[in-house]
Amino acid sequence: MGRYWLQTLGCPKNQVDSDKLEGHLVARGYGPAPDPGSADLVVVNTCAFIDAAREESIETVLRLAGHRPPGARLVVTGCLAERYGEELRAALPEVDLVAGFGHALTEDAAVPSLDAPAAVPVALGAPRVARTIATSGFDLLELPRPAARAPWAYVKVAEGCDRTCGFCAIPSFRGKQRSREARHVLAEVDALRAASEGPGGPPLREVVLVAQDLASYGRDRSGSGRAHRGSRGPSPIAELTRAVAGRVDRTRLLYLYPSRLTGELVDAILETGVPYFDLSLQHVSRPLLARMRRWGDGDRFLRRIEDIRSMEPNATFRSSFILGYPGETERDHDLLLQFLEAAQLDWAGFFPFSSEEGTHAAGLPGQVPAELALERLRECGEAQDAITAARRDGMLGERRTVLVDAPGRGRTVHEAPEIDGVVRVPGHLAVGSLVDLCIIGAEGPDLIAAGGGGTA
Ligand code: SF4
Repeated sequence: MGRYWLQTLGCPKNQVDSDKLEGHLVARGYGPAPDPGSADLVVVNTCAFIDAAREESIETVLRLAGHRPPGARLVVTGCLAERYGEELRAALPEVDLVAGFGHALTEDAAVPSLDAPAAVPVALGAPRVARTIATSGFDLLELPRPAARAPWAYVKVAEGCDRTCGFCAIPSFRGKQRSREARHVLAEVDALRAASEGPGGPPLREVVLVAQDLASYGRDRSGSGRAHRGSRGPSPIAELTRAVAGRVDRTRLLYLYPSRLTGELVDAILETGVPYFDLSLQHVSRPLLARMRRWGDGDRFLRRIEDIRSMEPNATFRSSFILGYPGETERDHDLLLQFLEAAQLDWAGFFPFSSEEGTHAAGLPGQVPAELALERLRECGEAQDAITAARRDGMLGERRTVLVDAPGRGRTVHEAPEIDGVVRVPGHLAVGSLVDLCIIGAEGPDLIAAGGGGTA
């Protein structure tokens, strides 16, 4: 039996791809290696989001190249392989295969695309000649996946994106949005649940739905999705959210484009009992958002947030912002700082603009010096850290239901896994249990909870 080591970098969407690759290997009788040094096949699922992510990906490949045993194959897949396959092949002779999505690990580019994943094990016997295999549009979306190791799991509901945000290269290599059929998504949730009911693993309590543009899920499909283009008929993402919520205790949605956050979707999210809104805002200055080829402005965003808070005072908001986009002025930056103060978001991530080859923004005048972008980023980060800490302090003394993710660590509905802060809980609580606890302390983004009540 072959043994694999799969290293995943980047965002939750990449983690789902890795789960699918892993599920495919396991279904074919392969097993995980305890460490890269004892693997027959080492796979790096890379990220190409910004320069830092690309550097981390390359460093990981080089590190694992040095750790693998003699004869083990090294495969590079994911966004970096998709975007820079030829360059990687030339620069990294240590790598046996550089392969785009879905074809990751196939030995022969001539393998018909839909059979490509079936050739995964072939990589074990591939000649040690680095090569690049181009994608032909095969997605990993429908492959099986292993049982979740935690009481929560990401589920990817669509691949690609129909938008044209000025800074983003994703549509150029992930392609147009392709939504999965709802029944396939639900079957995956059911399978994850069934697998979690076996011995050993924790029960599946939470499903985190992800996609590049999650709120637009289903709009590319015929039937209800197409009907919804004219804003008639039920919203596919709202329907899917309700259906998933009928299967697990918690349903969480990540990456919502603000213009697609309809009243129906807000209602569906609030009905799940997880009032968590991850709004992809990127900035608040209207002229700058227009240069980003994105919708909205700070006033609209604030109104939406206030509306939701009027319906659910405990609603949690997360967003991410780009600092130093070409043309960003001091006034734009001040508007963002004012917005942060007014919006009192629970969580926010800030990223320096990264000029991506082939994007609209790469050719724009008014490039902002990197040091200035970092200074603005620091300013926003400091302002938001104080806001986040204050919002966390605001929960002191309150009771919350905590999902125990790992011994001594859990989350309320206010924290998304792997992204936000955590809740420290008594170490004896069973992983996968939902426990009513009192928040007795706060340390920056993290909470401390004690005094168990009911469990589920
Ligand atoms: S919505 Fe997201 S994935 Fe799509 S183009 Fe914009 S930033 Fe990129």
